[in-house]
Amino acid sequence: MTLHRVARFTDVPENQGLEVQIEQRKILLLKVGDQLRAYQGECPHAGAPLAEGALCNGRLTCPWHKAQFRIEDGGLCEPPALDSLKRYPIEVRDGEVWVDDQALRDAHTPPADDARTFVIVGAGAAGTAAASALRELGFGGRVLLIDREAGAGYDRTVLSKFVIAGETPPEEIPALRDDDFYREQRIERINAEVTSLDCANRTLQLSDGQSLQYDAALLATGGAPKQLELPGADLPQVFVLRSRAHAQQILESARPGQHAVIIGDSFIAMESASALRQFGLEVTVLARQPVPFAKQFGETVGKAILALHQANGVVYRAEGEATQIEGTHKVEAVRLDNGQRLPADLVLVGIGVSPATAPFADLPQEKDHSLRVDGGMRVTDGLWAAGDIATFPLNGQPCRIEHWRLAQQQARIAAANMLGGDEHYLDVPYFWTWHFGKNYDYLGHAQSWDEVEFKGDPFKPPFIGLFGKNGLVIAAVACDEERNMAMLAERMKQPLPVDNAWRLIRDAP
Ligand code: FAD
Repeated sequence: MTLHRVARFTDVPENQGLEVQIEQRKILLLKVGDQLRAYQGECPHAGAPLAEGALCNGRLTCPWHKAQFRIEDGGLCEPPALDSLKRYPIEVRDGEVWVDDQALRDAHTPPADDARTFVIVGAGAAGTAAASALRELGFGGRVLLIDREAGAGYDRTVLSKFVIAGETPPEEIPALRDDDFYREQRIERINAEVTSLDCANRTLQLSDGQSLQYDAALLATGGAPKQLELPGADLPQVFVLRSRAHAQQILESARPGQHAVIIGDSFIAMESASALRQFGLEVTVLARQPVPFAKQFGETVGKAILALHQANGVVYRAEGEATQIEGTHKVEAVRLDNGQRLPADLVLVGIGVSPATAPFADLPQEKDHSLRVDGGMRVTDGLWAAGDIATFPLNGQPCRIEHWRLAQQQARIAAANMLGGDEHYLDVPYFWTWHFGKNYDYLGHAQSWDEVEFKGDPFKPPFIGLFGKNGLVIAAVACDEERNMAMLAERMKQPLPVDNAWRLIRDAP
């Protein structure tokens, strides 16, 4: 334990963190009233520099993926981080700030003092967050985390950004939690498929013949990629992308110089176009919309992202539907309904996902096969659902949203309520998407708007765009405007007039 002089008290700004270093370690200094706090300098989620985040309403928001922490004690408020910030002892002497190089000890594992068994089905974004949250909230009973995928519980979002770009090898995809965590927290991982659920008897059936009884269960089985129903769709080089195994299959097949045809203009389709192009393939996107993402980001940003793809050599075709994948033993071409033939060595299908709820056929399901939950993510007595399978009330409207951070937020709410809490989703949905080295951030879930205004040029980031309805901000989209988006992630939780938002952006540090 050694104290290091890192700054002068007056160096730490009022409304922003200051990053200092002790040897190689980055430390964040924050002002809390007339006191200082020292926390780890990088976000526990993906290593973002927290000094570039926003301080607002007693919370620090991470600039990259909008995890939130309490300024007072570094406690985790919102994912995608799953841990609170490490805190370092700090002293101020004669205006000089001294920080210890040893963090205070982390919270311990709750004692095994509860006879209940909680089961989580699906160890993806939501399932892993729920398991962590149960322990964080002090649950001492059994936690069973079931997934059909061996090694589940990794960052799925990198598959279409860095893995099939050849940048991150599949075996190096970051795990959401390491083995020590599961062991120390007594989270029992079961690699099996859940095949059915008997809700009345609180029993789950597994593919290996086991049946499991639970006191409370969370269903978090995510989405299954929609498959093409065309002649030739079963050829071996026709891929979807949801899992590490899918990414591995694509990488085993793809070679620089080959032709890839991507069917669909979804986020995963377009991110994959960017990644495969980066890997050196010739990429054609067969789209249904003339401008990608126009529905979510508006025409201008959609066109700007399209231009970025085209400048990087992606061919984007919005005319002609695929009618057949040609080839005898391997993919040779995609045939379109206008007679055209696009040569192809591989086809990637990115036309959306369906909620993976087949084992829960006995539960009432929505038209899209999702499970309807109440504001506390509850399906029925003893049963909760979160993530891509859940239709939940957002501002009073039933809604199903496929975002990583939202799945984890819902999971944390479900975990609290499984323990008798009464939490509801009150936040602003957020997601990010990555194209040719540019990260686009989006806050909100707007179906329509009556005004949109930009600061900066979407064709030449940085830019930030605000979508307004009846004078209030209902969504924001940006690239390279991280601190402002972090600030808005917090501010948009309350009704925010568009004029006020622009003022906050103008006055931001
Ligand atoms: P998942 O994370 O899919 O987890 C579900 C788990 O359940 C899986 O591990 C699955 O194996 C398991 N499972 C399913 N059925 C069973 C069963 N019967 N028995 C046992 N286990 C079962 N969102 C963003 O916000 N930003 C992004 O940049 C982004 N990029 C993405 C990139 C890709 C390639 C993909 C596929 C998705 C991306 N998303 C992104 C969406 C995001 O990943 C999902 O919204 C999120 O993973 C949903 O979490 P979930 O827990 O509901 O499902």
